[in-house]
Amino acid sequence: MPLLPLPDALDTAVGHLGPLPGLFADMDRAYHELAAHYRLECQDCPDNCCQTLFHHHTLAEYLYIYSGWQALTALQREECHARARAYGHAAQVAATRRQRLRAWCPLNDGGRCRLYGHRPMICRLHGVPSEFRHPVRGTVQGPGCHRLDTLAPAPDGRRLDRTLFYRRLVEIEHRLRARLSHHTRIQMTIADMLMTFQGPPDPAA
Ligand code: SF4
Repeated sequence: MPLLPLPDALDTAVGHLGPLPGLFADMDRAYHELAAHYRLECQDCPDNCCQTLFHHHTLAEYLYIYSGWQALTALQREECHARARAYGHAAQVAATRRQRLRAWCPLNDGGRCRLYGHRPMICRLHGVPSEFRHPVRGTVQGPGCHRLDTLAPAPDGRRLDRTLFYRRLVEIEHRLRARLSHHTRIQMTIADMLMTFQGPPDPAA
């Protein structure tokens, strides 16, 4: 079941996603600048973060993924749906066994993201050391990824400040939800999202 009566809602929503591509472009610039400072590269990383389970929480990111999904071929969608089903099953097994899931995101194809231009926020910011100013908890710092720990010279304390990025995404999300009268809480993996998009029926269902 889609979160919204797609695709009608998408057509409406795209108009309200206006500032989102610009925000994501700013995130990419800030990330790449700091990654270059640390000479951090993702290529051939044995601990690829596309194998990490992330949940996403905004309607804006969901709809942006959906708008990218529209450009995939029927075959690509079919492949992604098959992977999303397998991912969902693996996630259930891992949760039952209380194990940490390591599985490729269903959008990852041979190490490349099929919707790279539409990927959500955490896919753009994960990796470099970060911080943000929380209104109650004060400054909250996050470490970089495991690969960063292996680099020489070691990280020198420079961090990506996520505060403004979070604020801008929250503003976009508030406006979007108000326009679409959508108030349901979202906590979805990419696999969860894909399974709400139209695709071929599940042969096992
Ligand atoms: S959406 Fe793309 S970048 Fe993000 S985890 Fe999936 S494949 Fe990787």
